[in-house]
Amino acid sequence: MSDTEKVHCLIIGSGPAGYTAAIYAARANMHPVLYQGLQPGGQLTITTEVENYPGYPNGIMGPQMMVEFEQQAQRMGADIRWGLATKVDFGQRPFKVEIDEEKWIEADSVIIATGASAKWLGLESENRLNGHGVSACAVCDGFFFKNQEVAIVGAGDTACEEAMYLAKLCSNVHMFIRRGEMRASKVMQERVIKTPNIKVYWNTDTLEIMGDRSVDSVKIFNNKTNEESIIPIKAFFVAIGHHPNSDLFKGWLDMDDQGYLITQPGTSKTNIPGVFACGDVQDKNYRQAVTAAGSGCMAALDAERYLGTLE
Ligand code: NDP
Repeated sequence: MSDTEKVHCLIIGSGPAGYTAAIYAARANMHPVLYQGLQPGGQLTITTEVENYPGYPNGIMGPQMMVEFEQQAQRMGADIRWGLATKVDFGQRPFKVEIDEEKWIEADSVIIATGASAKWLGLESENRLNGHGVSACAVCDGFFFKNQEVAIVGAGDTACEEAMYLAKLCSNVHMFIRRGEMRASKVMQERVIKTPNIKVYWNTDTLEIMGDRSVDSVKIFNNKTNEESIIPIKAFFVAIGHHPNSDLFKGWLDMDDQGYLITQPGTSKTNIPGVFACGDVQDKNYRQAVTAAGSGCMAALDAERYLGTLE
């Protein structure tokens, strides 16, 4: 450990949870240092307009919103830095976090806000049309396709929930299930099947999302009959699950079988006193900017109380 710096409160991650934790921690005189990670601003930087975050009556573009969160945290005195946490040692206090495989931070408290990443199918067209009709968040982007034909891929609870959300807004929802059955809970499946404007396509793979500047159709393949077909749509939603960005903490922090960090109910406390978690890395249920921000506030308040017990 050649290069080591000591900080009071270290925040890892820069979505709404991390920045909100930074705002609260800075105002509480905890001198937070925040490392932004691989995708500064987090998942909101890959969405377009955000219309459901209170306080922006005219909506705001996701990337701009994250710039404003960052500026607010900086104005309060948070030290925001480029850099990726690459290793941790939570064995004893001060906790040790390696940054960019070259420098170590020693921290009295750590707030983890590393978020989650949507899983994608891996198609070239999916990447090219991302933000132009391709989205991994129906609640964020469904509204822009009111009264239009849309498609969704996935067969878990999220896909069912999002398909039903879209069905309320869009004229028809084409839902592609790769097997002959869904993984979602029975009650969710039944709701989907009973919704008249959701059409379920069993044993169906997505071959390509088509469109030049925006989505205009999708090419699908029935893996039972080997038939290909093209369906005109304006938007394609991917709902095949998320990865919580928690690999770094394996062996230190309690997590569920999918890797979501486990916090004590109603708090941001992990199994290690002094290490807190907020935002999507510990929430597979709500996953909204506003709920992430709220949990970031909780983490800063929990960290402040914890640091108070050390003095
Ligand atoms: P899941 O992992 O449960 O489901 C992912 C779905 O995507 C599966 O049906 C899977 O298909 C499908 N899939 C994966 N990869 C591909 C691919 N390449 N092509 C096509 N389909 C693919 O993720 P969810 O986000 O739905 O749910 C995560 C957790 O959160 C679950 O435990 C869920 O129960 C929970 N949840 C609960 C809710 C609630 O209770 N209201 C709401 C939302 C989530 P296959 O089945 O063939 O593997």
